[in-house]
Amino acid sequence: MVIDVHGHLIPESLLRTPEFDIFLEGKAKADLRIKAWGITVDAIREDLFSPEVQLKAMDAEGIDKRIISLPPFLLGYGKESSWAEAWAQAGNDALSVICGESSGRYLGFGIVPLQDPVLAVAEMRRCRLDLGLSGIEIGTQVKGQDLDQETFAPFFEEADRLKCRILVHPNNVSFGERLSKFYLRNLIGNAMETTICISRLWLGVFFERYPQIRICFSHGGGAFPFLLGRLRHGSRVRPEIGAREGRLDLPSGFYVDTVVHDGKALRYLIDQCGLKSVLLGTDSPFDMGLPDPVRFVRESVPTAAQAAILESNPESFLNS
Ligand SMILES: [Zn+2]
Repeated sequence: MVIDVHGHLIPESLLRTPEFDIFLEGKAKADLRIKAWGITVDAIREDLFSPEVQLKAMDAEGIDKRIISLPPFLLGYGKESSWAEAWAQAGNDALSVICGESSGRYLGFGIVPLQDPVLAVAEMRRCRLDLGLSGIEIGTQVKGQDLDQETFAPFFEEADRLKCRILVHPNNVSFGERLSKFYLRNLIGNAMETTICISRLWLGVFFERYPQIRICFSHGGGAFPFLLGRLRHGSRVRPEIGAREGRLDLPSGFYVDTVVHDGKALRYLIDQCGLKSVLLGTDSPFDMGLPDPVRFVRESVPTAAQAAILESNPESFLNS
């Protein structure tokens, strides 16, 4: 059973609700754009909002199940809290319906209004306990605040109690105009967002404080795997970090996906993070997703590692 832990879908019902201010534009299937909350996202494919089309694409790619979540530009962290709460509720309700109608092909990761951790706790509980969603998608930051800030502790404490699965997805890239050319805001900015996020959580006490959380970082963890040696060296020599037992290991709840676009990078990811930490992710159906994700894994790593990445590791992430 091949399981993709990182794919996206926007329930069409959300596009038909004017007060949510999300609109699909363009006529040709190859020229669709989404306008939402002051931004335009182009190169949209029909399978972003059509489960029927997306499931056929999954068949063609050999993917049995996919965890779907809203794209990160719709997390809603920049909105007023009560609006974001209503948005998250509507999005999660719609996602839950689509998962329920998918004959088990879709699992859903909901969103929460993380700018208000109390509301976020309530919506996470609703997602897990009432809607049957499998986990929660969160951003790498919330309006400039990193996830290790104490303000988010109530959310992660409850996530730990619920043994919640979390997908961390870069959002709100914060590197200014230097990344304004060549789509670098996505190509590099997303990877750097994730790198900063993991580094702060790992060098801090996050994984010791919340040992039950299973957390998957998008896009192979960005540059984190390549910087791991540097971070470990720093943790030995720099007093700002502080040596602690187990500091140099990666925790059991730590996962990364396969969206790295290079077989050598995938093999290095396995070397650095351990095979059991690597999960099939696709970022489908965006143009920066893996074009043929299962084949990419099969052509990049030995047979035993293929089975782990495509099947047993995602299963363990969801059910351990
Ligand atoms: Zn994504």
